[in-house]
Amino acid sequence: MKVIKFGGSSLASAAQLEKVLHIVKEDVSRKFVVVSAPGKRSSEDIKVTDLLIAYYHAYTNNENTEEICKKIVARYEAILDELAINKDVLVEIQHAIQQLVTLPKDNNPHLFDAFLASGEDNNAKLVAAFFQQNGLNARYKNPKDLGIIVSDEPGNARILASSLSKINQFKTTDDILVIPGFFGYTETGEICTFSRGGSDITGSIVAAGVGAEIYENFTDVNGIFVAHPGIVREPKTIKELTYREMRELAYAGFAVLHDEALMPAYRANIPVVIKNTNNPDHPGTLITTSRTVEHEPVVGIASDQGFASIYISKYLMNRELGFGRRLLQILEELGLSYEHMPSGIDDISIILREKQLSIEIEEQLMERLEKELEPDELRITHGLSMLMIVGEGMRQRIGVMADSAQALADNRINLEMINQGSSEVSIMFGIQENQEKKAIEALYQTFFSI
Ligand code: ASP
Repeated sequence: MKVIKFGGSSLASAAQLEKVLHIVKEDVSRKFVVVSAPGKRSSEDIKVTDLLIAYYHAYTNNENTEEICKKIVARYEAILDELAINKDVLVEIQHAIQQLVTLPKDNNPHLFDAFLASGEDNNAKLVAAFFQQNGLNARYKNPKDLGIIVSDEPGNARILASSLSKINQFKTTDDILVIPGFFGYTETGEICTFSRGGSDITGSIVAAGVGAEIYENFTDVNGIFVAHPGIVREPKTIKELTYREMRELAYAGFAVLHDEALMPAYRANIPVVIKNTNNPDHPGTLITTSRTVEHEPVVGIASDQGFASIYISKYLMNRELGFGRRLLQILEELGLSYEHMPSGIDDISIILREKQLSIEIEEQLMERLEKELEPDELRITHGLSMLMIVGEGMRQRIGVMADSAQALADNRINLEMINQGSSEVSIMFGIQENQEKKAIEALYQTFFSI
């Protein structure tokens, strides 16, 4: 059987829901349907989840909540009306949304999550009713009843290992189960959401739990592009990727699938396919343990901005016992996590996400590094972009680094850092943010233009 997940844009309107129905009907093995909250109908529209955030703020700031509550109900109503779904569901949805403002405000760390989760929860009820009305044996299934038990970390929950065997009990379901994505319940029964965009995680967990043949993730693009379509015109889509390649690309800004969504499927060895609700006949991008499709050495180019690099140089650093430990301890004590740490004989660079560095933290950091490590040279560079070329094939191919460096040099792009990483699945280049677009175009030309 298959687990199929639909993102918010696939569920934003009646017209989209008709496509969803068609896709589910087409294949009887699609037994588990995971849904997001209704997303944007156009680029100016607001996602239901974002409306729920506004609703939460109005409530906790003791403002009038009536208008925003109505607006949220109206989003569901518009879909229900157009699909001519029985009004009972609307009454149920309206009641659930109105009830949110009766939850206790004080000492309630799960309040925000309860608001957010209702977006998917109500949508799952709506989708189940729509499926039933169209002849499918479908029913809404609450994550608690399904066994999605998570850690007590509001807004950032993690699945508990014990969940999978609970979910497994449902693998032989005759009915189609419509499951709200994005949240689970703690062991004490509180709602906790995953981080934003986390319905993808639910889909992956359910797929792992029931041992699905495949996890189909339906979104609004034909698959994963080899480079960002905002930068390269009409980039190709990737036919097949390994989990490792996907992980590297996702890290460096490929936002198609949530960062944490791959792990449950990967551990259970379940292939994932990214497909387009608006073009379901397109094969999409398949993510598996090992690739059968032959690629050129590089499968994709990704990039992400907002990095800073701290350069530390000290003569005979290589012989100074405990230098690395002291350096990392300073970072840890200041609550800073680092992303990369390329090193030489007498120097080391720490690459970290800039958003962690307030002016005070940066001052403290630089002061402590200066005092406790006594470097010969210490400097910080802001505004860096990490550019990454990814591909399992690079291991067997000589000259990928040379070709990349040449392409960047020809375009007068200054390399602040190069890091091949231990996995040999990717090569990373640190460049100035304002050169990012040019750099990606140059690399695309080199690896994909033929
Ligand atoms: N609705 C949630 C969000 O907007 C989760 C999701 O769509 O995956 O973040």
